[in-house]
Amino acid sequence: MAIIKDDAVILRRLDYSESSQVLAVFTRTHGKVRLIAKGIKRSTKTKFATGIDLLDIGHLTFSARNVRQEALATLTEWVQSQTGAALRDALDRLLAAQYAAFAAAELTEDWDPHPVLYDGICETLRALTAGSGPVSTLLVFQRCLLQEIGSFPILDACVGCQRPIPAQGDLYFSSLDGGLLCRDCESARSEKLAIDRATLACMSEEGAAAESTTSAFHVFDYHISHLMGKPNPLLRMLMSAC
Ligand SMILES: [Zn+2]
Repeated sequence: MAIIKDDAVILRRLDYSESSQVLAVFTRTHGKVRLIAKGIKRSTKTKFATGIDLLDIGHLTFSARNVRQEALATLTEWVQSQTGAALRDALDRLLAAQYAAFAAAELTEDWDPHPVLYDGICETLRALTAGSGPVSTLLVFQRCLLQEIGSFPILDACVGCQRPIPAQGDLYFSSLDGGLLCRDCESARSEKLAIDRATLACMSEEGAAAESTTSAFHVFDYHISHLMGKPNPLLRMLMSAC
């Protein structure tokens, strides 16, 4: 039985019985781990007296019979350092945080460490808690997520013909092909999205063309949805709350 200590953020929470929860947590050095937290909902005489909420950040201890094979490890201690409850004051920022948690949970494998992504998720939650704009904060998160899972799209050349992106003319983005398509190559593809140059600049570098932040976010969301095989269920609510 291995006893493991790590920093973690709570991505998913499911009430399992009267007194237990099943959690999907993203740990800094062990990646995503599924845990059962027994006695979590009892308010006294447990180590987790206050319970654990979605989007909480903290330090945990858990036991796993076989590291990297365990379907459900057992949480033994949780010390919260930042509460997800602080996000409940603003619906748009809460939904943005849930959007990030959903995408991170979907696109990472259990026991596959991504410390840079862990830091990116924590920074996203801290920025949202501090009042940063939900869409611009999520754009930074999307870049981090795509880079970390090795699916950041090619944005400086056509993925069809490998030629540099022409200075003029229409541009298209293909999730399946993993990047931009020039006008000569796009006609052969059915899966594509027309994008303008300001959106492309905003996708490529942080801080560029602030007015295109939302359209750049939507192109990355389109790509991430394709990678997940489903839309992010938080998107529609987030867009109506923003
Ligand atoms: Zn091309």
